[in-house]
Amino acid sequence: MTSPSKVMTTRMNIAIDGPAGAGKSTVARHVARELGYVYIDTGAMYRAVSLHMIRTGIQPDQVEEAVAEMQRLHLELLPGSERQTVLLNKEDVTETIRTPEISQFASLFAQLEPIRIKLVHMQRQMAEQKGIVMDGRDIGTHVLPDAEFKWFLTASVEERARRRYVEYMDKENVTLEQLMHDIEQRDRQDETREISPLRLADDAILLDTSSMSIDEVVNVIVQRAILRKDGEQ
Ligand code: C5P
Repeated sequence: MTSPSKVMTTRMNIAIDGPAGAGKSTVARHVARELGYVYIDTGAMYRAVSLHMIRTGIQPDQVEEAVAEMQRLHLELLPGSERQTVLLNKEDVTETIRTPEISQFASLFAQLEPIRIKLVHMQRQMAEQKGIVMDGRDIGTHVLPDAEFKWFLTASVEERARRRYVEYMDKENVTLEQLMHDIEQRDRQDETREISPLRLADDAILLDTSSMSIDEVVNVIVQRAILRKDGEQ
């Protein structure tokens, strides 16, 4: 890992996009810690909104009801060095939103424009202060098109499903095949939706993490960030 003495003085925003299970969240969290930046997991925001909709009995095709419900929903992200805490109407839902069911619903509710507009507004506000590592699907293309550094992480479907399986196996009754199917379905939904689909930004660096460890990916990103800043100074 990088020595803290190399931490940069000029702060920038780093966007990390990619499909489910590409390692974005873990990598983004570690990169933020290495650079002394704040990590923001935007997927958690779509997940929390979906949890709220499920609890209130609203389905993704009930657009009007979902939009009305957004007015009643209060979402807060509390950054932390180990993890980001997600508060939904003051309730800590950080763990509750990590289930295969919420993953699928999040991908469906994320297709609704009014929901995206509200969450993107919050995301841009959080990034104003700079020194942010933000991960999601549309960060480099839409949320922070001016981010100084953009990455697009990917990995084979098999490897991404395997990673999710390891994450879920102790708490959920899921099979590897089921997760592979879910991931393929979510990829399709996220890549083909009309608003802000998942795609590689023109100025993003594409990194296939299939055969890389988390530390390796983190090191590549941190070193390149330091080099870029050194080059500018
Ligand atoms: O990243 P994560 O798997 O937690 O995201 C859950 C879902 O939220 C994604 O499948 C995607 O549909 C949606 N999402 C999005 N835009 C983002 C982050 C997540 O549409 N910036």
